[in-house]
Amino acid sequence: MTGRSVAACPAGATLGPRPAQIGELDSGRSAAYRAIVTAREWIVDRAVLPHVVQSGTRIAAIDRRIVAVDQLAAGAGAERLRGTLLPGFVDIQCNGAGGRSVDEASPAALDTIAQAVLDGGAVAFLPTLITAPWQHLLEQVAAVARWCEAWSGTGAEPLGLHLEGPFLQAPGAHDPACFVDPTAERIEQLLAAARGRLRLVTLAHARPGAAVATALLKSRGVAVALGHCDQTSGFAECVAAGARAVTHLFNVMGALHHRDVGTAGFALDDERVLCPLLLDGVHVHPAMVRNAFRILGPDRFVITTDAVAAAGMPDGDYTLSGIRVTSCNGTVRDAAGRLAGSALTMARAAQNFLAFVPMAGPWTLARAASTNPARLVAAGEFGGLVVGGRAAFTLLGDDGSLTAVRP
Ligand SMILES: [Zn+2]
Repeated sequence: MTGRSVAACPAGATLGPRPAQIGELDSGRSAAYRAIVTAREWIVDRAVLPHVVQSGTRIAAIDRRIVAVDQLAAGAGAERLRGTLLPGFVDIQCNGAGGRSVDEASPAALDTIAQAVLDGGAVAFLPTLITAPWQHLLEQVAAVARWCEAWSGTGAEPLGLHLEGPFLQAPGAHDPACFVDPTAERIEQLLAAARGRLRLVTLAHARPGAAVATALLKSRGVAVALGHCDQTSGFAECVAAGARAVTHLFNVMGALHHRDVGTAGFALDDERVLCPLLLDGVHVHPAMVRNAFRILGPDRFVITTDAVAAAGMPDGDYTLSGIRVTSCNGTVRDAAGRLAGSALTMARAAQNFLAFVPMAGPWTLARAASTNPARLVAAGEFGGLVVGGRAAFTLLGDDGSLTAVRP
């Protein structure tokens, strides 16, 4: 589908009430003014806007903020992009990439991961920590939060932390000896360590206090996902308290049976709940990915990676929270043979999505890989090609490639 011009520069924007043309920045402005303004302009074959895929679209940005999305003629300095431009992908579960692991919690490791995430097609991500001994975890949270605050602007943008554990019940590759209940005291300790950078917590709904913890986290602006739980008790209470997602649908949440539907069955059935899936073809069979998409539709299906250090790297041995994991043919397992995250990039996951779900196209992909995850963690500046949004995109090339694009 195509449409006409959909947006204009908001009144009061830096350069006036209409979209700035790139050439304007080079004339009639002082050198000092030009030094503090970064203006960019792109012209793209097709752009996925919130309600239409629009051909021949011009996007202009000033200081990384979109100021125009229209079909006006582009300036001479505009960059031509071939393919379909999507809002930039947002990975809400990334334990590592590029050979490094978030739990290293060092600026060097996190810088490498951020660059690898960007190279993997996503423009923003939640560095994700998994279960660890409580005091050690608090130190990791504080260190990653400090890095988020001081982010250099290189690589994918960290939106804050995702904490997957230790408030869990079913281990997967986590160490169950470190599992604890989500008491109010522990939640407050976490919030203090994260200093406003905690964005998403995965907790097990069957743990004592889970619903109270969900309400507390929600009241403090932290999204809650339910997961690592093979029981269904507490699920309804936690959703009622504000949980709005599960973590890696189908994985580490017990079986789905037509009489005993499990956490997965209840999650699929509840229209308030977003469902991220790991789309490597191993964590979830492609047939079940299609079944899930038919139920969830474009507003509740979320693509994420659960990537570990092996993402974007060759097969080999890597570490995850101190344990050795091995990536073989792109599948990551621990020494016991359990799946331990993935080697996915968002680009690879998205390509698998398009391959597994033939009824999905670029518009649906934009919802699943950008709009929905951004909405879950209230990252309103991401998730849509709209005026006021962040100028950070993922380009779907006509050859099926997916690359991150930004100023
Ligand atoms: Zn997990």
